[in-house]
Amino acid sequence: MEIHGILLDIEGTTTPIQFVHDVLFSYIRQHLEEYLFTNSRNKEVQEILRALKHEHDDDIRTNSPAPGWTAEPVAYLNWLMDEDRKSTALKALQGKIWYDGYRDGKLRGQVFPDVPAALQRWKQQRLDVRIFSSGSELSQRLLFGSTAYGDLTPFLNGYFDTKVGPKIDPGSYRTIAGAFQLPPEKIVFVSDVTKELDAARSSGTLTLLCRRPGNPMQVVHGHQPISSFDEIPC
Ligand SMILES: [Mg+2]
Repeated sequence: MEIHGILLDIEGTTTPIQFVHDVLFSYIRQHLEEYLFTNSRNKEVQEILRALKHEHDDDIRTNSPAPGWTAEPVAYLNWLMDEDRKSTALKALQGKIWYDGYRDGKLRGQVFPDVPAALQRWKQQRLDVRIFSSGSELSQRLLFGSTAYGDLTPFLNGYFDTKVGPKIDPGSYRTIAGAFQLPPEKIVFVSDVTKELDAARSSGTLTLLCRRPGNPMQVVHGHQPISSFDEIPC
């Protein structure tokens, strides 16, 4: 395949799923209440909470089993995380909490060992490498900016989050190809989730199914499997 652009998923692709769940999400659960208390006068936080309150109202209207919204909606936010809800407002709040954690050195991004070398190789080949993850753009930058291999953000040209659309919607990949200024068939999307790859393929984007230790089994569905970025044919 002739590839000019590479689009990478994070969780289960560049980064162990375990890191996202055991480190990042447990950090949020440990610090959520304190963060909301300390930042209750922060305008951005207030705006995020307004968006989340709307989401809560919708949940109640549709009879979902969401916990009530109290003065500090920690129970509801924990519930959204339990549900793995792809809420843009929730992701924005998480990004802000992680920002403090990375800044204070309590968090450090993790990537698989083949990732930094591949990023370096692709930079030399002048390939355009970007990220598409449901985590907010800020949290993506923080992760890649703080790895044991150093700051990897100079190797990345862009970050897409759920603001561009869901990862299982072909339209998201068409929008992303537009941002790359490349036809979809010149871009390869690497992800561990078959449904996301199916959506990317519907848009014309090339696909590779990433299999990493700790990933749940996925049906292959015609997507070429790889277990390391060394196997990416470019
Ligand atoms: Mg993933």
